[in-house]
Amino acid sequence: MRVTHGMTNAPLARMTLEKSAELTGWLGNRGVRFQPALIGTLNLGRTNAFFLGGGRALLNSLCRHAEDLEVSFAYDTRVSDLELRDGTCQAVTLADGRIITPRKVIATAGGFEANLDWLAEGWGGAARNFLVRGTPYNTGTVLRSLLDGGAASVGELDQCHAVAIDARAPKYDGGIASRIDGVPFGIVINRDGARFYDEGEDFWPKRYAIWGRLVAGQPDQIAYAILDSVGVTRFMPSVFTPISDASIEGLAEQVGLVPAAVQATVETFNAACPPGPIDQSVLDGHSTSGLQPEKTNWAAPIRKPPFFAFPLRPGITFTYMGVEVNDRAEILMQDGRPATNLYAAGEIMAGNILGQGYLAGIGMTIGAVFGRIAGEQAARRLNRVTAGDTS
Ligand SMILES: Cc1cc2nc3c(=O)[nH]c(=O)nc-3n(C[C@H](O)[C@H](O)[C@H](O)COP(=O)(O)OP(=O)(O)OC[C@H]3O[C@@H](n4cnc5c(N)ncnc54)[C@H](O)[C@@H]3O)c2cc1C
Repeated sequence: MRVTHGMTNAPLARMTLEKSAELTGWLGNRGVRFQPALIGTLNLGRTNAFFLGGGRALLNSLCRHAEDLEVSFAYDTRVSDLELRDGTCQAVTLADGRIITPRKVIATAGGFEANLDWLAEGWGGAARNFLVRGTPYNTGTVLRSLLDGGAASVGELDQCHAVAIDARAPKYDGGIASRIDGVPFGIVINRDGARFYDEGEDFWPKRYAIWGRLVAGQPDQIAYAILDSVGVTRFMPSVFTPISDASIEGLAEQVGLVPAAVQATVETFNAACPPGPIDQSVLDGHSTSGLQPEKTNWAAPIRKPPFFAFPLRPGITFTYMGVEVNDRAEILMQDGRPATNLYAAGEIMAGNILGQGYLAGIGMTIGAVFGRIAGEQAARRLNRVTAGDTS
């Protein structure tokens, strides 16, 4: 409730958290392997599990397991439409023109984060400057079909997970390597050379997910993390080499900002920093005084050359608006009744749990918990129907 400020379906959220406890065992029994948490800016070993080999290794293990159970996959096959009538999916149309008459459908086609036109309905023109961290295929075609066919929607258009990523990352699919984790160890300025948020508000794992939205709120959706040669050593290096210069003014010139404005911001910031070293292992309360906004932890002057800049853009991970579901992962229709043969799992229904905010690992957790439930429910209903019980 604290994370979402009450914008959650509390019973479903509780169920998700409870069932998450079974996931490592369940996945492990299907060939998925885990590795210990890395020590670093995302030190989440107590609360999170990490896949050995990352998400693709997870997918490969689950696909192999499914193939052993004689599940077949149709690769490179785009769904272009679902035909819904009275809460029943009658037909699934594929982009190549084929039409499937389904018995059960589990919608797992992601959110609409790769559809900049749809994002613009919630974000306005700012959406054009978003970089999409994941696949370009999550354009929301299936979600749109479901909503147009009468499924109940949940969540708001502009709610999403978005982080600050290097502005030099590709438009789509830059992945985790483009995230910039240096924000707490320097300052972040906008196009006008002004700071706009407390860079040291909390530990980075608790704050990284708000910075996409913060950068999205700045003119032209661009910002710059500015660090000195001490600050730049305090976090996991990015794949992108920072822009560097022997002077702040030279750095500003290189990134196309007004040198005098950036110099003034850095000087004002440095003068507001308290004396003495910072301790990044705790919330050290080493705060500036007299600034608007203050930097409330790890405030150290930016004065040891060379100086570094990382250009930042909002990197959207996934959208929250989706279809409403119940605890059996059945899609609910606008009249409140469950659809007869439609289930949903993952981003396409994430808004049931996440109205806003984010909790590290909850994306995969929602997908895994509801994917498991949807699969079990659909299979159970199919087996019952096969056995002659149509209840
Ligand atoms: C860079 C990055 C880092 C992340 N890090 C984390 C993390 O650390 N922890 C965490 O919990 N979560 C993380 N996530 C989020 C997590 O990956 C997602 O929550 C999860 O993958 C959602 O699963 P899904 O099955 O709903 O969607 P996806 O995994 O996106 O799968 C959707 C699939 O549907 C396909 N598709 C879309 N439209 C169609 C169509 N019309 N027809 C046919 N197929 C279609 C797509 O090609 C895609 O293969 C991260 C995401 C990104 C992008």
